[in-house]
Amino acid sequence: MATTPDASTHELVIIGSGPAAWTAAIYAGRANLNPVLYEGEPVGIDLPGGQLMLTTDIENFPGFPEPISGPALMDRMKEQALRYGVRVESELIVEADLSQRPFLLKPNYGAPIRAHAVILATGAKAKWIGLENELRLAQIGGGVSACAVCDGALPHFRNKVLAVVGGGDTAMEEATYLTKFASEVLVIHRRDSFRASKAMASRVLNHPKIRVLWNTQVVDVLGDDVIEGVRLKDTVTGDERDLAVGGLFVAIGHEPNTGFLKGQLETTPHGYVVTTPGRTATSVPGVFAAGDVIDDYYRQAITSAGTGCMAALEAERYLAHHGIGESPVVETSETVVCAADAAPTIGLSGVQAAVGAAYGEPAVEPRG
Ligand code: FAD
Ligand code: NAP
Repeated sequence: MATTPDASTHELVIIGSGPAAWTAAIYAGRANLNPVLYEGEPVGIDLPGGQLMLTTDIENFPGFPEPISGPALMDRMKEQALRYGVRVESELIVEADLSQRPFLLKPNYGAPIRAHAVILATGAKAKWIGLENELRLAQIGGGVSACAVCDGALPHFRNKVLAVVGGGDTAMEEATYLTKFASEVLVIHRRDSFRASKAMASRVLNHPKIRVLWNTQVVDVLGDDVIEGVRLKDTVTGDERDLAVGGLFVAIGHEPNTGFLKGQLETTPHGYVVTTPGRTATSVPGVFAAGDVIDDYYRQAITSAGTGCMAALEAERYLAHHGIGESPVVETSETVVCAADAAPTIGLSGVQAAVGAAYGEPAVEPRG
């Protein structure tokens, strides 16, 4: 990335615009860190505001006894951050050089900027099959979703035949979860064997409410305002047929939004940012990460908001430790939060390590 000598330097840049980013912005704004937040741009169905822009009723975010729509919740988070003087730029950060101090970041259109501390809160995206009506119905809350834990309990899905697409652990988990609400769950998989672990696959195969449609692909989603069915194709014979369903859950994997970091810091084999155990500090001192970009396990708005808060507090303490701003707490906790001048103790967090082990991922060795 070309360096410009006049690149403006900020105390803290937050990248992202989901619950993690806005929570970090609220905390950093209140701490007078003058945060600048890059909220991204609309790219396909990905919108500034993050994954909740793709859903209707949120029933599990504390403080909202009545359901609140995903976009309304994100508007409120943004409004709250703006109240504390957060500067918002509606651009993607497309490149980062974290080996330089201050860090160098390249927005999509604007000149490169510099930051003494960075919070990565770029989230992850659920993968979709890519059918036009699938994406349209997902966006309007028409019975297509990529999150059973989030949407499965909504009245719309009760006592209906629900379809889950995928053959991995996520699909197994989603299908099993949906049996609480559905009259029947159909797992639609494109091959004749699951990719999922034996234990999770056998839970599905032995569940009286779940039926598996092997060698089957969804080639269209039917319905105008709400899903009425799916068009299926037999991957062996090529035959097509329509099947009535009351909901479709696409569970074919997630992808963390870390492509723009390109090896600048430690990530898991699946591209999630690795943080210090129990912290949001990454393998690069001064760079913190929060939300779904560090989490392939919980993937919830409230957990993202929680780690967003942690990242802002850690950034505040890091900056104060380096003479920028003030913090009542610099390094009083038992675990060193950041050790810019010492060798960082980086490894998988407790959760990530456990999850990584469960997934058969090797633990990341500490960097010396
Ligand atoms: P995200 O929400 O993933 O947002 C990050 C955003 O940052 C991106 O979308 C993009 O706009 C921006 N960004 C990405 N890269 C860049 C970049 N390079 N530069 C600038 N900006 C960038 N959770 C619940 O708790 N309750 C629910 O009811 C619920 N329903 C859901 C329904 C659906 C359909 C889906 C897909 C998810 C749902 N979730 C729900 C999960 C929840 O949406 C996520 O856990 C949460 O949004 C993750 O927040 P985040 O802050 O990590 O980032
Ligand atoms: P995954 O393992 O990559 O599986 C994705 C599944 O979706 C595969 O079966 C794949 O089919 C199918 N698929 C992909 N693209 C498709 C498309 N366009 N159309 C139809 N089907 C498609 O993803 P995951 O299930 O999300 O799991 C990701 C990681 O998280 C894994 O390591 C998994 O073990 C882990 N995980 C663990 C748990 C747990 O232990 N509790 C829970 C969830 C996830 P093919 O098989 O034909 O490729």
